[in-house]
Amino acid sequence: MAYDQNNIFAKILRGEIPCAKVFENDHVLAFNDIAAKAPVHVLIIPKGAYISFADFSQNASEEEIVSLNRAIGEIARAKGIVETGYRVISNHSEHARQEVPHYHVHLLGGKDLGGCFN
Ligand code: IMP
Repeated sequence: MAYDQNNIFAKILRGEIPCAKVFENDHVLAFNDIAAKAPVHVLIIPKGAYISFADFSQNASEEEIVSLNRAIGEIARAKGIVETGYRVISNHSEHARQEVPHYHVHLLGGKDLGGCFN
């Protein structure tokens, strides 16, 4: 599957549609989920054109992979949810019902998230 340059996160990265930015560096952008499922619901995305975790983990540089993972921890600390706990999820393709075909990590916290993934 080819990367779709018109997916919504690609448009956010190009500045064509706005986002509520919470973090940015050379490789990573993070912004609030538009339909937040928790008091903290941040989407962390690479700036590179990767479709999913499978694509990112295989094709991204080590610098990009480290940068994205460090960003998750940094945002969790900045949001004050490290002590209380949080959840990190990434949906890949059909069975996980990935909606946006640009790799992204959901960071959820700020409440008891329950014992399942929904
Ligand atoms: P997925 O199911 O893992 O692909 O999740 C996509 C997420 O993107 C969903 O939680 C949506 O609420 C979120 N989303 C879709 N469009 C936007 C937007 O324009 N800004 C922020 N979040 C968005």
